[in-house]
Amino acid sequence: MYPGNNPNEAVNILDLHFIPLLTEQQVQARVHEIGAALTARFPDQKPLFISILSGAFVFASDLIRAFKSDCEVGFVKLSSYTGTRSSGAIQTVMGLEKDLRGRHVIVVEDIVDTGRTLHFFLNQLQLQEPASICTVTFLRKPEAAAFPVQVDYVGFDIEDKFVVGYGLDYEGLGRNLPGVYQLSEQG
Ligand code: 5GP
Repeated sequence: MYPGNNPNEAVNILDLHFIPLLTEQQVQARVHEIGAALTARFPDQKPLFISILSGAFVFASDLIRAFKSDCEVGFVKLSSYTGTRSSGAIQTVMGLEKDLRGRHVIVVEDIVDTGRTLHFFLNQLQLQEPASICTVTFLRKPEAAAFPVQVDYVGFDIEDKFVVGYGLDYEGLGRNLPGVYQLSEQG
């Protein structure tokens, strides 16, 4: 059941129950803050935003519109998750077609959990010799320290609970929720 206009309503997706964590207003305010910070940092460099699919596409689409200067956008698809737990192995399902040499790259991730995905991707990116790499994640969980990754901008630090909404899914569902919801322990 989807929430109507009430952001305090819980949602059920398949067998799981989720309670509200971040409202659409909180999310949008933070995305605009990060967009403004990136605009100030890359005023004339035409940075290339690289959105990690699938989860980061919603965040990336809002973030580029909060970026008030010229920029380009590209997408890569990596996957390490099945159900509510990371499967461990990372796969590049779809790569970038752009030449990154000498470009200022802004990597946009939905959530950094163990950091494994970003760690893997940043290593690949370095090989292509961009002028600079900036990393942005919408959410970060405390376990992020498990893999050494530098995250320059974090939307929100959250508890180690499974979340959906704003691009993040459970079994393919929930990506279109404008706020963020966390798995309820109550079931
Ligand atoms: P990491 O490699 O940092 O452990 O995991 C990063 C990826 O796992 C994210 O890009 C995201 O796709 C997925 N992920 C991690 N935590 C969650 C979560 O709470 N909810 C959802 N839907 N995906 C998650």
